Amino acid sequence: MIASACMSWSTSGDDTQARSRCVARRGALVLSVLGIWAGSCLACAGSSPPSQSTSNSAASPQSVDDARLARAGEGADEWLAHGRTWSEQRFSPLADIDTENVNQLGLVWTFDLETTRGVEATPLMADGSLYVTGPWSVVYAFDAKTGALRWKFDPEVPGGHARVLCCGVVNRGVALYRGRIYLGTLDGRLIALDAKTGSLVWEVQTTDPTLPYSITGAPRVLQGLVVIGNGGAEFGVRGYVSAYRAEDGELAWRTWTVPGNPDLPFESKALEMAAYTWTGDWWKTGGGGTVWDGMAYDPELDLLYVGVGNGSPHARDHRSPGGGDNLFLSSILALRPATGEVVWHFQTTPADNWDYTSTQHIMLADLEIDGRVRKVLMQAPKNGFFFVLDRETGEFISAKPFVKVTWAKGVDVHGRPIENPDNDYSKGPQMVWPGPFGGHNWHPMAFHPGTGLVYIPSQDMASRYEVDPAWEHRKRSLNTGLSTDFFTGSVDPDAGISVVGSLLAWDPVAQREAWRVEHGGAWNGGTLATAGDLIFQGTADGRFAAYRAQDGEKLWESPVGTGVMAAPITYRIDGVQYVVVAAGWGSGYSLSAGPAAALPAVRGGGRVLTFALGGEVEIPPPSPEPPRGPVPPLPEGVSEADLREGDRLFARECLLCHGTFAVGGGSVPDLRFSSPEVHERFVDITLGGIRADRGMPSFADVLTPSQVRQIQAWLISRGHQSLD
Ligand code: CA
Repeated sequence: MIASACMSWSTSGDDTQARSRCVARRGALVLSVLGIWAGSCLACAGSSPPSQSTSNSAASPQSVDDARLARAGEGADEWLAHGRTWSEQRFSPLADIDTENVNQLGLVWTFDLETTRGVEATPLMADGSLYVTGPWSVVYAFDAKTGALRWKFDPEVPGGHARVLCCGVVNRGVALYRGRIYLGTLDGRLIALDAKTGSLVWEVQTTDPTLPYSITGAPRVLQGLVVIGNGGAEFGVRGYVSAYRAEDGELAWRTWTVPGNPDLPFESKALEMAAYTWTGDWWKTGGGGTVWDGMAYDPELDLLYVGVGNGSPHARDHRSPGGGDNLFLSSILALRPATGEVVWHFQTTPADNWDYTSTQHIMLADLEIDGRVRKVLMQAPKNGFFFVLDRETGEFISAKPFVKVTWAKGVDVHGRPIENPDNDYSKGPQMVWPGPFGGHNWHPMAFHPGTGLVYIPSQDMASRYEVDPAWEHRKRSLNTGLSTDFFTGSVDPDAGISVVGSLLAWDPVAQREAWRVEHGGAWNGGTLATAGDLIFQGTADGRFAAYRAQDGEKLWESPVGTGVMAAPITYRIDGVQYVVVAAGWGSGYSLSAGPAAALPAVRGGGRVLTFALGGEVEIPPPSPEPPRGPVPPLPEGVSEADLREGDRLFARECLLCHGTFAVGGGSVPDLRFSSPEVHERFVDITLGGIRADRGMPSFADVLTPSQVRQIQAWLISRGHQSLD
């Protein structure tokens, strides 16, 4: 039994200190977890609660159960579930802040997460407590009115796990149920905490820790179950979603999303059918299809909807060389929540070839379409088409492109996209819209029942795709099957190629744009709609704003000191409406997109910001600009061939976190301008793993010292180029 979880009640929020205090216990914790990843209960009860008293005695969310979650839409004051309700509309009935008074909005409290890594969390608010997650799967509980820290829980994710993350050390939030907080961790654990104290109740390993799985998404709770998926399809895994008993962490069911080895028995009839849509030896590298974000639940139909991700590798000619649609990649699955049985499926991108996940936000609503009220499911997946489906049957209703789309010419009467043969990259490199970042990514949308519009954080951006004919699966490496990095050429003003992010108001019935507000770049924040007829959204370039829901007129804006990716929420305590956003630039786009994501003066600097009418607290300044080390001369004897090889190796092993062309995106060190100390210890860092605890693990299994020197020389040459 584990005595207690690693916690810190220090309001300094210093992750580094908290993490090092817990190092001694980390070994025991992780080792005992490794042995039982299949899903039994690891540590039940027995943790010691903190002696510190909380700042508000009414902090027990004990009563958040199925009945209360089912009524969450009626209760205006709280935000009990990830998308506020099971339908995930992210609409609040609060109207104290409205179009007339929103200009009086000001900051009332803020909390410094003391991190430069990306923040993607949707907070929850119940009974006066606010629950927010930061990088490294750390959970914070605040007094929602004052911002006083009630507790903090650090699951002590090993820093080296960062190597098998496509998109940063991020987390998108927790679930709240029957007095507990449920958290998925980057290293694949599902953890139950006492909501009042933050002490550990149980934890289970939901993934095989020898494989490059990870969890960044928020669990969902229903019918006594905690539902959790995972990520890892960029590296080569087989996707699945699991349900664990909320009470004790026992595995209730697991539904795989792609078939395994057809020589072995299939886990279900659905997978037996799906196997006919695959060819070759896909199971050897997993196939992909991870369930890493979007879910929704309809208690009347008793259906749980989950979104399934892209194929692994991305290039389908490597994944399924004889063709086939590759079910259930890039699909929406309707599951029976008691058993995990697949009731229906809809594939938004058959035969995915572009990293077009269908894990994006799944939203349920009842819409009048052609004179009758339809129970619909809506999704704006990466592929650029806005889909409206009948959520009872999975029947296709409509789909239209909401951003520039070149890979397909439209959809047929069944909703199947019609591929554009002129944009087929199997015959040679092509610029394709959207690229792997998608026309819309994980950033949540919102629906306003008054306007009938869906507010999408959309983006118009392309990527250059080219099959790598020499690709071979490499365990724990990026496995796209594409020849060069994704992002070359995604910004080329001379060729008219740019990146445009928008707040897009979309009419899902007419399938057309109502209005849009264009932002400076892509990867802007998720959205919130309120009965005050306001749409709130943060931007990648460091602003937080409110727009009129009907026409997009901007009514209020505040700087926030860092880029915003997450969606805000709103709640009311003692008659005061608050709006809170967890801000902090970082994540996959900032880490990997290089020049496209390097916005002027935008840096990581995670903070929770809570606003109310009349608030007068000063906005905290941006985190200081990191010093730029002097660029040393190229080492003697470095040849052009060394630099080319360094470039190639960097793209293969380093680009995913340190950016295209080694242009840092403001969240991790910019390797073009490393300090003399880093250059001195370059081999110790890259091969010796001396900074593994900070998320820079050893690459000794895939790089030799001479290769590391080639990478270093290329980085120095990049520094000189950037100084020209
Ligand atoms: Ca992906």
